[in-house]
Order: sequence, then structure tokens, then C-alpha cells
Amino acid sequence: MKQLAVTCPNCKKKFNYYSSEFRPFCSEKCRLIDLGQWLTESYTVPVEKLTEEEIQTLEELVHEKNAEEEKKHHH
Ligand SMILES: [Zn+2]
Repeated sequence: MKQLAVTCPNCKKKFNYYSSEFRPFCSEKCRLIDLGQWLTESYTVPVEKLTEEEIQTLEELVHEKNAEEEKKHHH
């Protein structure tokens, strides 16, 4: 397999570009988090194209991320 070390735009983890199905992200989670940010920052993403399950996952990830941000701000 080809090797190309790239940094995930979400979690900044280094991974092999060719080994990820979710590039430019390292994992589905990072891809969804990024999509979640899109959804929260601007509603230009056609939400109706997502399945209910995907939307639920996104909401959970956004909540998780917001909780993390909250923690950071309190320190
Ligand atoms: Zn990542």
C-alpha cells in the first residue's frame, strides 16, 4: 500500500492517507465531527440527505465536543 503521512484536520493525529476510508480525516468519527461543526456553524449542509442515525450520531458528537470545550474554558 502507498504511504502518505497526513495530519487529520480534526484531531491532528498523523495517519496514512491511503489507509483511511474517511480521508482527509483519520476516522469516521473525525469526519462526522467536522460535518457536525458545519451543521452547527451554518445550516448550508442539506440535512435531509443524512439518515436519522447519522443525524443522531452527529448530535451526540457535537454535544461531546461542546462538553469538551466547556471543560477547557473552565480551566
Ligand atoms: Zn482524526
